[in-house]
Amino acid sequence: MNGITRRYGDVVALSGLDFEVPGDRYIVLLGASGAGKTTLLRVIAGFEEPDAGQVLLDGQRLDGVPIHQRDVGFVFQNFALFPHLTVTDNVAYGLRHRAERRMTDPAEVTRRVKDMLDLVGLTGLGNRGIGAISGGQRQRVALARTLVTEPRIVLLDEPLGALDANLRDRMCEELRAIRQRLGITFLHVTGSETEALTMGDEVAVLSGGRIAQCAKPTELFARPVSAESARHLNAWNIFPGRVRDGVLSTGAGPLPMPRPLAEGSQAEMAIRFDQIGVCLPGQAPGGQDHFTARYIAGEFNGSTALAFFRADDGGLVQVVDHLGAPRLPDLREGEEYALYFPPTEALLFEKTPS
Ligand code: ATP
Repeated sequence: MNGITRRYGDVVALSGLDFEVPGDRYIVLLGASGAGKTTLLRVIAGFEEPDAGQVLLDGQRLDGVPIHQRDVGFVFQNFALFPHLTVTDNVAYGLRHRAERRMTDPAEVTRRVKDMLDLVGLTGLGNRGIGAISGGQRQRVALARTLVTEPRIVLLDEPLGALDANLRDRMCEELRAIRQRLGITFLHVTGSETEALTMGDEVAVLSGGRIAQCAKPTELFARPVSAESARHLNAWNIFPGRVRDGVLSTGAGPLPMPRPLAEGSQAEMAIRFDQIGVCLPGQAPGGQDHFTARYIAGEFNGSTALAFFRADDGGLVQVVDHLGAPRLPDLREGEEYALYFPPTEALLFEKTPS
């Protein structure tokens, strides 16, 4: 995709977005609510035309091509199944009614639908009505109905949103396995960083109407290339500030920097939740209290625990502890603690004056 722009009145949903979607991969598009995720899918599918830019699939332009000629599959958030039809008829619908390459031979339709139901794990449920299957099974029917038309790419809009937590975990694995068997690209949209990092071969962060970064989950998590990317991962504290006397002067205090920047420059420093140590004031290793903050609350998540602190400027600072290797002291609500971190592990993003 080159320079895709889509506006709705004064709202610029996509702003000159460039994105080359890799082939034969599970790609997750991660973005906050309103970031333009659905708009991007709708532009690729052809439900909307961009105001500017080009959409290409395997080198061919798609913008301007009618929806049914794009070979793009779309799985809707609410599955959009026909409630009065059986599972088989829902899946067969696309084959029987599509504008191009319509399939009329009943034996051929039956064979293709059966293969597809087997592929998505619905063997034997073809005669059931949509009302007589579970949420996870409906999800599979929606997927089968799309896949049976042999699209070159499948777009999935929050495909796990309507499922409960247990089912979501199972479907995560199933979706990845089904895609792998088919060898086509899935482009899956979500607002959940956990879902994105678990499922994606690559994760693309959508922010400000553009792709801020597209990378493998481990790389994205460990090395976001901008504060924007880091903000989406729910694992980094971001401290904006200005360089004064060789340190970054922030609302939390003066912080040591991983590399020098010119005096007066504006920058944002990102420090990961697991890289911040906590102790009583004056007791940090080497006497290096980097800043102080008040402990406000903890959150127990099973194998990890999050500790929330309030910095001097009122900003929230998060620290994570892993229960297998606990490293935080006993914390008392309302008490002030010293927080420290290895400056070499912090990321520094210089702000270019706009
Ligand atoms: P969510 O995760 O909440 O579904 P999203 O990332 O999918 O959000 P979009 O639905 O693509 O976001 O919307 C992007 C922006 O465009 C939002 O500000 C939204 O209000 C606006 N928008 C989307 N569709 C329309 C429309 N038909 N008319 C006017 N504004 C729209």
